[in-house]
Amino acid sequence: MKQTVNRAYNFNAGPSALPLEVLQKAQQELVDFRGSGMSVMELSHRSATYEEVHNEAIARLRELLAISEDYEVLFLQGGGSLQFSMVPMNFLQPEQKAAYVMTGSWSEKALAEAKQFGQPYEAVSSKESNYRYIPKLDEVRFDPSDAYVHLTSNNTIYGTQWKEFPNTGNVPLIADMSSDILSKRIDVNQFGLIYAGAQKNLGPSGVTVVIIRKDLLEKANKNIPTMLKYSTYAKNNSLYNTPPTFAIYLLGEVLGWVKEIGGIDEIARRNEEKAKLIYDAIDTSNGFYYGHAEAGSRSLMNITFRVKDEELEKQFLAEAKKEGFVGLNGHRSVGGCRASTYNAVPYEACKALSQFMVEFQAKNS
Ligand SMILES: *Cc1c(COP(=O)(O)O)cnc(C)c1O
Repeated sequence: MKQTVNRAYNFNAGPSALPLEVLQKAQQELVDFRGSGMSVMELSHRSATYEEVHNEAIARLRELLAISEDYEVLFLQGGGSLQFSMVPMNFLQPEQKAAYVMTGSWSEKALAEAKQFGQPYEAVSSKESNYRYIPKLDEVRFDPSDAYVHLTSNNTIYGTQWKEFPNTGNVPLIADMSSDILSKRIDVNQFGLIYAGAQKNLGPSGVTVVIIRKDLLEKANKNIPTMLKYSTYAKNNSLYNTPPTFAIYLLGEVLGWVKEIGGIDEIARRNEEKAKLIYDAIDTSNGFYYGHAEAGSRSLMNITFRVKDEELEKQFLAEAKKEGFVGLNGHRSVGGCRASTYNAVPYEACKALSQFMVEFQAKNS
């Protein structure tokens, strides 16, 4: 018997929507996981049953992103935010420089943390435009002696996204991919390190994925706490201490779902289609709605826009809320509206939003 499930049109920026199929599967196997008589939460992290879950998640991510044996896939805690500190703690010396590409608030936070460990500098910044665009590749300054180049691949708050990445040669490129990892095909080999909190595109909050090139593990600083060394996680298959087992289990299930629907190219196709619905509503509105990001820098994950006057914008957000759309208020630093259309946000939700936008305009112009 098919039951209708009450599911919101969830456009939250993070934590955000998870695939219904994954939630239902988790619900089904919650109290008795694979015949263990326990939920995943109750398993020992040293048990064979848990280890299978753990290794499956790693293997699925390796497959989906075509991650080579030159890289380790690690599960950490502390969110994207702890990575702002761990990266410089591991790879920056007090007298050493690192280039930070400034494309939004998360880049600013990453730079601020790095200042505690070394001499980071701004490689280029689009702040003067209120972060409306992604710099051109040849504008990214760096020096061959820099410890690394750091960038934010998708700017969750401003709604901009890199379409291609600078070639930094022998200087490792480090990317915060918290809000667009697994949304499209990337070449992992372009990066020294990729990090992402799971709660936007990969699963629930509580686990952070790090993909790190093995040679960097050997070069990392040694005089730092055990739990803040990437090598601790790499040497122990991310089982040095108790990992966030349930979050890793759900992450693995989300990865299984991506595989099942057709993999990374199918996810990318869906994401383009979904974002287009909403960008089209903006672009055909004759200025009733207007985007924050420049057209060439638009994110397929976070669509930031304004309604032409402030009263109308308040009314738009209030009516949208009444119609069951969740999470459309822009971040307080940009204002306006933001629709986050991550992997698990269904086409139907985006279609409903674009229709609502068109109807609201018709009624109010
Ligand atoms: C959400 C987000 C973060 C912060 O993640 P936490 O897991 O809350 O620490 C960092 N970077 C980007 C790009 C984000 O979108």
